[in-house]
Amino acid sequence: MNKINLKSYTLEELENFVHQMGQPSYRAKQIYKWIYRGQTDFEKMTDLPKSFIKELEDVAFISSLKIYKKYASDDGTIKYVFALDDKNIIEGVKMKYSFGTTACISSQVGCAMGCAFCASTQDGLVRNLAWWEMADEVLAMEKDLQEKVSRVVVMGSGEPLLNYKELIKFLRILNSPLAFNISYRRITVSTCGIVPYIISLADENIPVTLAISLHAPNDAIRNRLMPINKTYPISQLLDAARYYIMKTKRRITFEYILILGVNDTKECAYELCTLLKSLLCHVNLIPFNPVEGKEFKRSDDAKVREFEQILLENNISATVRRETGVDINAACGQLRRSLLER
Ligand code: SAH
Repeated sequence: MNKINLKSYTLEELENFVHQMGQPSYRAKQIYKWIYRGQTDFEKMTDLPKSFIKELEDVAFISSLKIYKKYASDDGTIKYVFALDDKNIIEGVKMKYSFGTTACISSQVGCAMGCAFCASTQDGLVRNLAWWEMADEVLAMEKDLQEKVSRVVVMGSGEPLLNYKELIKFLRILNSPLAFNISYRRITVSTCGIVPYIISLADENIPVTLAISLHAPNDAIRNRLMPINKTYPISQLLDAARYYIMKTKRRITFEYILILGVNDTKECAYELCTLLKSLLCHVNLIPFNPVEGKEFKRSDDAKVREFEQILLENNISATVRRETGVDINAACGQLRRSLLER
């Protein structure tokens, strides 16, 4: 008989399950709490009766992600490669900041978006991750680090808004007081700009920080970098952004990779100022992380500073992303790809 993976159950589903086993529904809460404390061994769930533990062991198990590889950077960043049950691999990154530990997690195996500068998408999409596999990325990091994750950014491989149903379940679990208990304000979802799902997310009443990968101040440049722009051009994207701000009252983050000679000129900076004028937003400038086999080069530091300066002078809030884990290939998809190549 195939055993049931209790990690794939929501609290309501667990309640049904324990009911069917003839147990009171508070047992579900007990098990649920243990799961999100990282426990996978029924025997160690000390508040459950011994007889129930025996029954559980016969019919159920609690899955966990295997750490396949782990790379630690000098700056405290740790990059994980996790092995899934079906032998696919995904990446997650732990970053240490003064305000706590941030987990950057993947939402899909591979990615279908085809952005010209990104390593995650080079072999296309393999599959969506289930919500509990995303939760497992966080749990696996917490277990390995022996500390709680205080922020989550869904900014690893994959396009989270194209795995929408599972993403929403995952966000609710992150927020649930009995599970991760992380405030929505400490959760960021990054998208290349799937307009209809930005609207849906705005309507969910889940006020996470939305990060939009913009990377260009006009459609001509963005079309070249991001195929999705041909479906949802910048004007539609910004309308969706305005709707998100209106519904959630949250400031949007725009991510902007600086690629030498492509989108890093003064003209681009001024055009971006005009585009984002009067929008409640913050621009995160990201020096491009070179990817093997791509012709793009990173902008030099002086150009990056100049770009930032122009935004600031025009009252657009902007920062240059502190680079972490450069020595361990911590950018999106690079590690998985290098391992697949071997
Ligand atoms: N699909 C989502 C989330 C995953 S990508 C999105 O597009 O936002 C996470 C971020 O990493 C995006 O802003 C993406 O554009 C950026 N990124 C991808 N490749 C990069 C590279 N080589 N250097 C710097 N940033 C990169």
